[in-house]
Amino acid sequence: MLDRFDPAELSENVRSRFYIGGQWVSPRTDARLDLISPLTEQVQFSVPAAAPEDMDAAVSAASEAFENGPWPRLTPAERARYLIAMGQEVEKRLDLFKRVWTAQVGVVNGFSGMISGLIPHYFTYFAGLAETYPFEEDRPTPGGRARVIREPVGVCALILPWNSPLILLVAKLCPALLAGCTVVAKPSPETPLDALILAECADAVGLPPGVFNVVPADREAGDHLICDRRIDKVSFTGSTAAGRHIGAVCADRVARYSLELGGKSAAIICEDADLAAAIPAVTPVSMPFSGQICFAQTRMLVPERRKDEVVDAYRAAVESIKVGDPWEDDVGMGPLAMRRQQDRVFDYLDIGRKEGARIVTGGGRGAFNSGFFVQPTIFDGVTPDMRIAQEEIFGPVVSIIAYRDEEEAIRIANDSNFGLSGTVFTPDLERGENIARRVRTGNISVNGLQLDPSVPFGGFKQSGLGREGGPEGLEAYLEIKSIYLPA
Ligand code: NAD
Repeated sequence: MLDRFDPAELSENVRSRFYIGGQWVSPRTDARLDLISPLTEQVQFSVPAAAPEDMDAAVSAASEAFENGPWPRLTPAERARYLIAMGQEVEKRLDLFKRVWTAQVGVVNGFSGMISGLIPHYFTYFAGLAETYPFEEDRPTPGGRARVIREPVGVCALILPWNSPLILLVAKLCPALLAGCTVVAKPSPETPLDALILAECADAVGLPPGVFNVVPADREAGDHLICDRRIDKVSFTGSTAAGRHIGAVCADRVARYSLELGGKSAAIICEDADLAAAIPAVTPVSMPFSGQICFAQTRMLVPERRKDEVVDAYRAAVESIKVGDPWEDDVGMGPLAMRRQQDRVFDYLDIGRKEGARIVTGGGRGAFNSGFFVQPTIFDGVTPDMRIAQEEIFGPVVSIIAYRDEEEAIRIANDSNFGLSGTVFTPDLERGENIARRVRTGNISVNGLQLDPSVPFGGFKQSGLGREGGPEGLEAYLEIKSIYLPA
């Protein structure tokens, strides 16, 4: 059993200040963010909400650090040393990070453990790129040579969602820092704590003032931040609707932006799939963290001939997930993060019923007196045109869609405005790879979903723009300059 989180464990700085210009700064207004327990539905405590004036101060600090501070002028190897040190500070606090994640949004221990285990690798991976990435190269020209230089893009706003607040911040922050950028991080109003604790890590290693600033805020103050003309780049993870708006704001002043948005990813169970291997591999990634993860495999494409067999096996696996108190070790699914998520998922359950899909299991709240619970739900008889097959529900709801042959499976997988993730299950790896090549998606795994900091992650179509992870993730924070030199 995970030790329950007590707000008294947090430092006074995390509970009552912002991190701006290397200082713990008191808020300029008395606006607050209430943190509501997804389990008890009660306010647990509150922290200050950044107002536009706080945002302005954070951008000023980041601009000053970029224009006049040492950070962009250090070598990548020097910046990498800070990353390594910060990663060590993060490792010391991994247990606290896991517990604040559960307290804020109800993630279960098994999932938070798996994701938290990846976090230190982001620091070491990006620090390692300092050695191998070609920040500068010379190319011969008829008049002499050109030196091609990768420079930091400038001051970056990192806008974060509530579902995986630490790893999504780290996936942006590590490449931004290695590149030499300075950063204003705006965590989501529901999960302000992770970024503030990360600021304590930055403080502990003496990151130069203004390089990393943290200002938790609601959407309005976030909008003020992205509209600031001193912001050179916005990196956003969240809903497609907010991403579209942020893209339009940035396009207006030709600021750089990258978007990591939603998904409606397909798990393709092939005719020859070994269900004894495929079902245990697909179940945890079909509704991880109650389905509130962008890469969830929420459409399961199954061969018509084997549909009953697949549905029976998948139903048995889903029904064996223990739903309940996320602090308990044997619980595989907790409540949803917040009431608006629960309402949204219930709306989609109604939509699915009205569209004529059949609920195989779940479909209700379960026997809980409190908590934003939704039972893990499987819809059968789903056709690709239904809204539950097309729209991101962001809850523990999977649609089973039958296909006649492989061509049709690929066609259905691609019949989506999204293209973020995907999986293929077959013992024939050549077949699996051939199918994977034909699905229009940014990431697809054969026989079990994989994620790694060294590999680019991001979406096709409305799932986003740009990539995080790998050298491609670093390039998102670099501008290219060519200096022509005589022979
Ligand atoms: P959202 O996109 O509205 O919020 C995400 C972050 O963006 C938050 O920090 C929010 O304050 C900020 N934001 C929103 N509008 C902004 C603006 N105009 N300017 C600056 N910042 C802005 O997401 P949500 O309302 O929390 O969730 C709604 C839906 O979004 C979910 O149900 C799900 O479908 C999707 N979602 C996807 C992901 C993902 O990982 N891709 C994460 C969270 C939510």
